Amino acid sequence: MKLDVFTVFVFLCGMCFLAGCVIFMAWWISKSSRGLLLWSISFFLRGSALPLLMLRNKIPDFLSIDVANAVLMLGLGISWYGTRELAGQKGRVIVAIAPAVLWLLACQVPEFYGNTTWRVLFFAALSGVYSAFIGLEFLRSGTRSKTHGARLRKSLGIVFLMISVMYLLRCVAALYSGVPDNPMNGGNLVGITLFITLFWVVGGTVVWLAIYFEEYVLSLKHEAEHDVLTNCPNRRALMVRGDMLLAKSSGEAAGILVFDLDYFKLVNDTHGHHAGDCILREFALLMRKSMRSVDVFGRLGGEEFAAVLPGVSPARMEQIADRLRQTVEEHKFIVDGQAVKITTSIGMVHTSLAGHDLEALLMKADDALYQAKDKGRNRIVHWRSMGGQGMLERRAGPTGNDPAPGADEQESASFSSLGRSALAT
Ligand code: GH3
Ligand code: MG
Ligand code: MG
Repeated sequence: MKLDVFTVFVFLCGMCFLAGCVIFMAWWISKSSRGLLLWSISFFLRGSALPLLMLRNKIPDFLSIDVANAVLMLGLGISWYGTRELAGQKGRVIVAIAPAVLWLLACQVPEFYGNTTWRVLFFAALSGVYSAFIGLEFLRSGTRSKTHGARLRKSLGIVFLMISVMYLLRCVAALYSGVPDNPMNGGNLVGITLFITLFWVVGGTVVWLAIYFEEYVLSLKHEAEHDVLTNCPNRRALMVRGDMLLAKSSGEAAGILVFDLDYFKLVNDTHGHHAGDCILREFALLMRKSMRSVDVFGRLGGEEFAAVLPGVSPARMEQIADRLRQTVEEHKFIVDGQAVKITTSIGMVHTSLAGHDLEALLMKADDALYQAKDKGRNRIVHWRSMGGQGMLERRAGPTGNDPAPGADEQESASFSSLGRSALAT
């Protein structure tokens, strides 16, 4: 392939600035990833260094050799630093600036400075090592990442390992075919340089942006669906997931629980709002740990939470609700080294009695909750029991007096572990 060297360099320069601008704009939108900003800076540095290389023999060697390559090396180091940031690791400034410093130091050795092949070999070797570092960093973060971006990160890791191999090939080409003193005179290196830079731009921009936007969208989705304080699903997400569960188990049994912490205003007044926040967080965690992964648990708002328990019989639902109530009562909520007593009232309803409309079910469970409050708090009330037909109501106490599940409330074997997991707390 015959390439016009000047055109290739102008093209590469434009690509680097374009990549820098695109990545910078992506960073500007959210300003959340410093890694992205660092990558855009690294592209700008590369784009700025290329014109200096193009002016070899027209400007002092100090600028076209020392400075131009040092700036390219700095861009490389900054890319590595940015990749560490993306992977959630702390980078070391000394490692980021090392290639540029090493280059400038090597340029002080006359034998090295006067030998173009040595310079090309040294440059390609440093570039290869740092590309491999970047590749390994992406591979590592891809392995650790649990988001959809994991596969893309691994792909990007492979792209950079390939770039590293290309630098190795460049070393071999430099050794066997020699190197023109002025890069603008072309030779075998121009094609390789073009492909390496293209890989950088495609890998570093397209895939990087794909990863970034995928994770950005996922984080926005998470924020939209989760409560900031407790990190459990918010009301909207709870309704969507609960509705989906009920639609899936249409005709099947499911229990709906509504929790409200008792005298929480007093807790805030006594221990402060911050303590209240900590307790809400701990309460949500405690409930989440006490439920199965198929259960949906979320915050309705304030100190009110709800859960949808698919596949449980009414009797099992009551057992679980009482065990959860007891779990809260027995849990040591520690705030600033001080134990705070917390209890919860729970209202509940079962689909076998009240249908599969979640909004209506929550309202009924809420009615039952009000009754639990009226009756003195720290207790559970089943909506079925309201209206005087055999009120189910449990007072707090270590012994408990759960009625045995009725013969008509046999649950399916597939959910028999629920009781154990919830009751074991
Ligand atoms: P009851 O037993 O009748 O439920 O009494 P209560 O004090 O819990 O009920 P009330 O609805 O009067 O008060 C709820 C309190 O919950 C009032 C509010 O300050 C507190 N609260 C709601 N959201 C938050 C929150 O995000 N953080 C903190 N710290 N407190 C909250
Ligand atoms: Mg309340
Ligand atoms: Mg309350």
